[in-house]
Amino acid sequence: MSAVPVEHVDELKAYADSVAGCTRCRLAQGRTQVVFGAGNPHAELMFVGEAPGFHEDKQGLPFVGQAGKLLEKLLNGVGLQRSDVFIANVLKCRPPGNRDPQPDEIEACESHLFRQIELIEPTVVATLGNFATKLLSGRPLGITRVHGQEQETTLGSRSVVLYPLYHPAAALYTPAMLKVLESDFGRIPDLLGRAVAPKLEPELALVPSPPAEQLGLF
Ligand code: URA
Repeated sequence: MSAVPVEHVDELKAYADSVAGCTRCRLAQGRTQVVFGAGNPHAELMFVGEAPGFHEDKQGLPFVGQAGKLLEKLLNGVGLQRSDVFIANVLKCRPPGNRDPQPDEIEACESHLFRQIELIEPTVVATLGNFATKLLSGRPLGITRVHGQEQETTLGSRSVVLYPLYHPAAALYTPAMLKVLESDFGRIPDLLGRAVAPKLEPELALVPSPPAEQLGLF
């Protein structure tokens, strides 16, 4: 059972509706629509990417392109579904030609992200890539230095575990980076305080196993 008050779900929906008409920065002019974010409004785990790309802008949903498919695969690899988590971005509107977010755009948009975090109340916020990591850690350290190193931080009025990860787009064509990302993902269940597979009770673990034949393994 989640401890998140039901009203927060309504507030999140109302907030999404209000952000749909946002004109705080120049990106409002070129977008098809605002990509607010999507997923479980009670999520314990929230992902924060960079900005919507072409497909996200068209569909109004985050991470629906190639990087999104990889993100979903990585989630499945640790026993999670997309519907278990909430996915958002630093910027809610697509930068033209998928260029990097500009500092003034991040500044204009950041309160949308902070409000989302406040309403969703995740325990772990996984940042994907440099932009989300630098914004939410408040530090200039790049993702190569800090990936896979969780840190307690205060976002809004809440203490959360911030978990920086490589952006899946960077791992799409770089097998070495994909290995690192998979390994960093492997620690997510632990950070959520969950076992990946049921653990044996210590007493049971001490009982000698019957021969493999008796277990039907051969
Ligand atoms: N990359 C991002 O950072 N966000 C998306 O939503 C899609 C691709």
